[in-house]
Amino acid sequence: MTATRVQSQSMKFMAHNGIEITNRRQLQVSLHPFTLRTPMKLKFLQALCLAFAPAICVAQPVESAAPSVTAIRAGKFIDVQTGQTLTNRIILIHGAKIEAVGSNIKIPDGATVIDLSKMTVLPGLVDCHTHLADLHGAEPLVSLRMTAAETAYAAIPNARVTLLAGFTTVRDVGVYRAFNDVAMRDAIASGIFIGPRMYVAGAYVTISEGAGAMTGLAKDIQLPLDLRYGIANGPWEVRRVVRELAHLGADHIKILTTGAVLTHGSNAKSIEFTPEEIKAAVEEAANFGLRVEAHAHDADGIKNAIRAGVASVEHATLIDDEGIALAKQHGTYLDMDIYDEECIQSDPATPADFLAHDAGLGETQRRNFTKAVRAGVKMSFGTDAGVCPHGINARQFAFMVKYGMTPMQAIQAATVNAADLIGHSELFGSITPGKSADIIAVTGDPIADIRELEHVRFVMKEGKVYQQEQ
Ligand SMILES: [Zn+2]
Repeated sequence: MTATRVQSQSMKFMAHNGIEITNRRQLQVSLHPFTLRTPMKLKFLQALCLAFAPAICVAQPVESAAPSVTAIRAGKFIDVQTGQTLTNRIILIHGAKIEAVGSNIKIPDGATVIDLSKMTVLPGLVDCHTHLADLHGAEPLVSLRMTAAETAYAAIPNARVTLLAGFTTVRDVGVYRAFNDVAMRDAIASGIFIGPRMYVAGAYVTISEGAGAMTGLAKDIQLPLDLRYGIANGPWEVRRVVRELAHLGADHIKILTTGAVLTHGSNAKSIEFTPEEIKAAVEEAANFGLRVEAHAHDADGIKNAIRAGVASVEHATLIDDEGIALAKQHGTYLDMDIYDEECIQSDPATPADFLAHDAGLGETQRRNFTKAVRAGVKMSFGTDAGVCPHGINARQFAFMVKYGMTPMQAIQAATVNAADLIGHSELFGSITPGKSADIIAVTGDPIADIRELEHVRFVMKEGKVYQQEQ
C-alpha cells in the first residue's frame, strides 16, 4: 500500500477553500508542490523582505483572512431531501461552507446579506454525464485537426457556461485526448479559470475499435498514445488501464459495454466488453476506491454492466423489463440523456452514419425512461453535454417531466441523487449545514414550471458568487 493510500484512509485535509478533503485523488492534488510548498516559500520571502527592506514589502498575511460570513434570504427554498418547498429561509454561509439553514436564524453583525427573497433557491445542479474537456459536436474526428493544447484551450468556455447555467458540479465521463479532463479539473480547482467542480474519467476504457475509440481513420494511420489511451482487451488489460487511470488522477472509470451512436463503424445494438471484462473493471476500480459507469445502449450490454456491479448505466437506451428489474435490485443508477436527441437530429453537422445509427433510438429511450421512472429505479441527471452545446444542460429537465417525473423528482435527480451516484453526498447535493455552499436561484417556481431552471439568475459555488442577476 502506498503512502498516499495510507494517508487517504486516515487523514482529512483542509483545502484552500476550507473544504475537508477526504477523497483519495483529491488528496493527491492537495499534495501538489504548488498547493503546499508555495505558501511556505512565500512566508520565507516575506520574512526576508520584512527583515531587509520593510519599506517596500507588502505585509499581507500569506494565509487567507478569516472566512467571510454571508447570509442568503431565500423567498422560496427547495428542500431536495424532503421534497418540499419551504418559504422564508435564511442560509448562513461561513467561507465556502453552509453553516446553518432555518427560518429563525440571527444574521451576525458584519455579514454580507444577499437578498433572494423574491426568488426560489435550490442547491447547485449536478450533471452526471458531460464532456466539458472535449470539443463540442457529434463528430469525434475533429480532434485530429487540433493539438491537445488547442483542444484544452478551446474547451475552457465549456466549463464557464456550464457553471453560469447553474451546474456547480459535473461528472465528466470521458475525453478523446486522455487526461485533458484531469488538467481541466485541476485548473478550475486552483482558480485558473472558472467552471464546475469536476469529477473526471481520464479516458474512455473501450475495446479496440470500440465505442470509445477514435474510429473511421484510414487503415494505416497510427494514433498518438493520448488518442488511444484507454483501449483494453481482456480482463487483465482492463485492470492495467484502470490501475493507470486511478494512479494518474481519474475520479471514476468510464467503460463502454456496447456499441455507440456517435462512433464511426459502430452499432449501438452490439455487445462490446464481456461480463468478465466489466467485472474486472469494477473490481479493479473498487481497489482504488473508484466507481464505474458503463455506456450501454443494447439491452444485454446493459444487463451485463448491472450484474457486474457498475454504479450507473449511461444512456440505457434499449433497457428491457428484466434490465429495469435488475437495476432496481442492484441499486444501479440510470443516467439517461433523453434531451440530446433534439441536437443530434437538428445539427446539420451530424454525420450521416450517426443519423442512421440513431434511427428510432431516441423515442425508444424516452419510452424506456418512463418505464424506469414508474418502476422506481434510481435516476440521475445526465445530459451528454458536448453532443448538445454546453450550457443548455437544463433543457433536459422539461423532457424528464414530460416523460414521467414530477418536477421535484427531476430536481432531485440533479442534486441529491447525483451526489449519491458520484459518492460525495457529504459535500454537495443539498443545502445542508456542513456542505459546500453551492447554491443557485431562479425568479419563478421550478416546481410549477420546470423550465425556470433554464434561466438561472444566481450562482454560488463554494461560497463565491459567480452570477447575480436581479
Ligand atoms: Zn457521453
